[in-house]
Amino acid sequence: MNIKDFRFEGKGRFSLDDVRTSLDIDKDEEPRYEELTAQNTLRMGELQDKLYAEGREGLVILLQAMDAAGKDSTIKRVMSGVNPQGVVVHSFKQPSQTELAHDYLWRAVTHLPPRGFMGLFNRSYYEDVLVVRVHDIWKGYAMPKRCLNDGRDTFFERRYKQIANFEEYLYDNGYRVLKIFLNVGLDEQKERFLERIDNERKNWKFSAGDIDERELWPHYMDAYERAINATATEHAPWYVVPADQKWFARWVVSEAIVDVLEQIDPHYPELPKEAKDTLARSRERLTGEGR
Ligand code: ATP
Ligand code: MG
Repeated sequence: MNIKDFRFEGKGRFSLDDVRTSLDIDKDEEPRYEELTAQNTLRMGELQDKLYAEGREGLVILLQAMDAAGKDSTIKRVMSGVNPQGVVVHSFKQPSQTELAHDYLWRAVTHLPPRGFMGLFNRSYYEDVLVVRVHDIWKGYAMPKRCLNDGRDTFFERRYKQIANFEEYLYDNGYRVLKIFLNVGLDEQKERFLERIDNERKNWKFSAGDIDERELWPHYMDAYERAINATATEHAPWYVVPADQKWFARWVVSEAIVDVLEQIDPHYPELPKEAKDTLARSRERLTGEGR
């Protein structure tokens, strides 16, 4: 199995009909995948330490998915090996009044990690072409007529272009953007919702509104497909991850993160000669103490 199988870089047309939400891997394989994920987590930790020490390139990892696809548990698991000092996590909720008063990329910009950091976006500015499209929220925006008058398709075509330009801008300014769609199936989502309802310890995760969104499933899939096709590039690829088997999805995500960190190829900074001389003198002073 190769991570490239799940990567889409914008060549040809991507269709959700061509991918599966589960590869139906034998349950006996779970421990092996857990082990592989654990190894990737260690590797991620090593690479992140160098990324931080070097401070040259930033990594934005964004996670998009329908409810109960496993965004939270993926973040928890995948991040378990990295130093929290070099990571920022932000969840994109419904925009506040202040956020709505700005352009939609503003809040993404304000939550970008500094270079040297990993930034994890739990949902992202893609909501602005997903939920905003599905619910036609854009129609109610306080914006000039010229921005809204050309209709839905034009409004979102512009946004796709803006997002692609934004991601290219980030790339040209020392960032990589890794975009992950946890592709859970309709049946599996139902099972997970039922589990949230039936298991008291999971009740807090359930929100009745999630069922409303579920009923709009085909519209969401259409919006995802459009967004993925319009914004996948070599430098900002989409990973469409089969998410019905959580342990498999976590492995794919861990592979994708290690892969991009290896492309960044961070190194501990090499000290300039004067700094090395200072180190040598400090060493002499310490070892010579009390002589
Ligand atoms: P969880 O349910 O696991 O806590 P979540 O990401 O679903 O995580 P919620 O608070 O339930 O968090 O949902 C956030 C909601 O905000 C989602 O329904 C999402 O579609 C919505 N949202 C995010 N960005 C925007 C946006 N720009 N415009 C409108 N709604 C948005
Ligand atoms: Mg939710």
